[in-house]
Amino acid sequence: MTKSVRSTCAYCGVGCGVIATKGDGDSWSIKGDPDHPANFGRLCSKGSSLAETLSLDGRLLEPQVNGQTVTWDTALDTVAGKFSKFAKEYGPEAIAFYLSGQLLTEDYYVANKLAKGFIGTPHVDTNSRLCMASSVAGHKRAFGFDTVPACYEDLDVADLTVLIGSNAAWCHPVLFQRMQKNRAERGAKLVTIDVRDTATTQESDLALIIKPGSDAFLFNGLLCALEQLGVLDDGFISAHCNGFEETLARASKDCADAHSVAKATGLDVDDVRRFFTLFASTEKTVSCYSLGIHMSSSGSDKVNAILNCHLATGRIGKTGAGPLSLTGQPNAMGGREVGGLANQLAAHLDYDEASLDKVRRFWNAPNMVTGEGFKAVKMFEAMSEGKIKAIWIQSTNPAVSLTNSLAVRHALEKCEFVVVSDCMENTDTLAFADVKLPAAAWGEKSGTVTNSERRISRQRQFMAAPNNAKPDWWMVNEVATRMGYGSAFAHRNAGEIFDEHARLSAFENLNERDFDLSGLCGLSALQYEKLNPVQWPVNDAAPEGTPRMFTNGRFFRAENKAAFVPVSPRLPVEKVVEDFPLIAISGRVRDQWHTMTRSGKSETLSRHRPEPFVEISTIDANKFDLKKLGLAKITSRLADCIFRVRISDTQRPGTIFVPIHWSKENSSGGLIGALFASHTDPVSGQPEGKSMPVRIAPVEVQFTGLIISRKSLDPKLPVFWTRASSINCHLHTLAIAKEPDEGWHERVAYFLDVEPANLVVYEDKAAGIFRAAHFRGNAIDSAVFISRGHAPLEETEAERWFNSDMATTNNRWMSLSPEPMNGDKARGPIVCACSGVGANAIKQAIISGKATTVEDIGHLLKSGTNCGSCLPEIKQLISAL
Ligand code: SF4
Repeated sequence: MTKSVRSTCAYCGVGCGVIATKGDGDSWSIKGDPDHPANFGRLCSKGSSLAETLSLDGRLLEPQVNGQTVTWDTALDTVAGKFSKFAKEYGPEAIAFYLSGQLLTEDYYVANKLAKGFIGTPHVDTNSRLCMASSVAGHKRAFGFDTVPACYEDLDVADLTVLIGSNAAWCHPVLFQRMQKNRAERGAKLVTIDVRDTATTQESDLALIIKPGSDAFLFNGLLCALEQLGVLDDGFISAHCNGFEETLARASKDCADAHSVAKATGLDVDDVRRFFTLFASTEKTVSCYSLGIHMSSSGSDKVNAILNCHLATGRIGKTGAGPLSLTGQPNAMGGREVGGLANQLAAHLDYDEASLDKVRRFWNAPNMVTGEGFKAVKMFEAMSEGKIKAIWIQSTNPAVSLTNSLAVRHALEKCEFVVVSDCMENTDTLAFADVKLPAAAWGEKSGTVTNSERRISRQRQFMAAPNNAKPDWWMVNEVATRMGYGSAFAHRNAGEIFDEHARLSAFENLNERDFDLSGLCGLSALQYEKLNPVQWPVNDAAPEGTPRMFTNGRFFRAENKAAFVPVSPRLPVEKVVEDFPLIAISGRVRDQWHTMTRSGKSETLSRHRPEPFVEISTIDANKFDLKKLGLAKITSRLADCIFRVRISDTQRPGTIFVPIHWSKENSSGGLIGALFASHTDPVSGQPEGKSMPVRIAPVEVQFTGLIISRKSLDPKLPVFWTRASSINCHLHTLAIAKEPDEGWHERVAYFLDVEPANLVVYEDKAAGIFRAAHFRGNAIDSAVFISRGHAPLEETEAERWFNSDMATTNNRWMSLSPEPMNGDKARGPIVCACSGVGANAIKQAIISGKATTVEDIGHLLKSGTNCGSCLPEIKQLISAL
């Protein structure tokens, strides 16, 4: 019988359901779950490629202390012993936990409980601080709790969707396709507001490309326009809200008319008016916002500027109307529920005396904290200052993902005791670990995650955890037990933790708190195993869950009213100056996830954007003397990085785009976190990771290279290098300043650690071409391609040889062909990851006249027919040719 297991995608906050099905041997296939209400069977390129990331390649499989493999007992005793010692010598507040939206809710719950109730340190924060903390702050200020009002169903029936600071076509593709379906089938409108032209803005009815950081001017202006156009819901405002007059008065100060808004945002005044009119005249409006809003030194105010407009029109708690923040990570929401943020306790409770007392009694906690802890940026600053002396980092890579990442590395170096639990063995952060704990990966562990619409879904184990990999909750409970808290951490499985989490949410709740899982208390093991996706709150009033909140107009602030929050718009802290004349904007690419530790294992995903790159307008490329596919050095006042140049007419002059995914582990100079300063939002503590003044200059190199090898190599000498995975091999791209004095042959043999005579070589000195391959028996072991100029190779004949032992004594020279020799053309950058279709095939179909529309391309090549994430790129190719 075929074994199939329902689970949830490991990547973004859309929270798509998947079905894992056992294939031959150890193989598994992953497809979308047609019954999951988040995706109804659809998956994007990342979800579709999950099966490619299940291998043990690169996994951390054994515990280590100071670089030595040890037993679990030794590792756990070491952590528990050090934490106990540090708590005694320096006080519990010398210990910190840095958690992750990748963790399951059950992992998060016990880590937070151990820190805040038993060790007695409030310093628990999470990488979700970098992703959506401003929404948490905005929700709490407006509604009283961190409550997401709307749900995905609203996107199917809205007449207008406004996407703000969100490249959803790439970052939340399954939801974006849902919005597009609504446009196609119901004629709904889509307005996008962003600082750059993206795959998302290109698919909208109205794209507003605004000055970086000016979003709150636009929404303050919208609030004024709603009043001027006479569409305020006065009844809703007076019955259900406080603070409208002063909020409107504040907005009117500098955003009272379309002209002043146009000036502040850099928009055309007619576009501003079109947006205001459309919003005003469309009752069923959903506003979705994401990191472009959150990741700002004024992120909370931007969130409240958006929420103010929905409250003012009563467009909240209604079908097809409401604000909906899109979370980046698969379980950012679960972390918020259990108190994974330094400024929240557990079960959405705050640090007031009554809440502290409740949690203390519920946990029977001996060392309950009394106040908030350090938020992420402050936590690492405190580490640098010597206040934090020990940290346990779980399933995240702050040495790459935090802003001012060189300072974070300095802090980790200084920290006396660093524990890192992770499923991969070579992350930048693990390099600083005294203790490394091997975590079970996706597919190997069980628990729950909560998506952007408050929907709790099961992640189910379908593979055995390899070697000594263990679930994170197990490690925490073992450390707690060794510290003397065993009776409070005696859970035998994730289901028992979930039950405690649900009971805490219900404990003395009396309908006063939004987060209520009383309807899920006391689930049997079988009920937990079979738990269907459900949206909280789940209680007597809503035993099947709650699709949308505030349907009765009751909020959680004084008098059960919502609060308007007056917003004084602020631009990013750092401004362009003569030395740093461009604004760098960071973001994601379609087919990678965070620091690539998992998505980087997929050959399919690695081919969409294989190298760290900078996107720059033609005007600025000319101004700064940059060449297409050349290299550029980007310098901020903190650091510099080197990127491949992509000249793009969709990039606004004066700004550049740089992706967040590359690290020191997989590139020479793609660590963009080092460029960005850590200016934080005063309310949410979220750092301004999206805007930094920089300068840019060309980097001259003479040669481009590609090394394909069985082993992952450390090509640190060239000016620029990257490392990526392919099938049975690793790809290393290089840019080299000049030919080595001893010549390529000697240098390459030395680098590969082989005898020069054992290389098969082709060299054309005049043309500046050197190619070589090395074999072990009939198996290719490595291949090297070096050529003068800038054009990186895409696919070679040699790469195919790593999949089978093709070599004979007579045919080895064929592996040196820079293109596949089986008649296939190199695919070029992958456009459609689901069907593995590259740009070259699509261009060929268009040039040959066989395809003139995206539908033709779909019929001919199947590209764009699955998740649809690549449709904007296919359209671009059609219009460019
Ligand atoms: Fe996974 Fe893609 Fe769905 Fe996000 S949209 S949950 S990455 S399949």
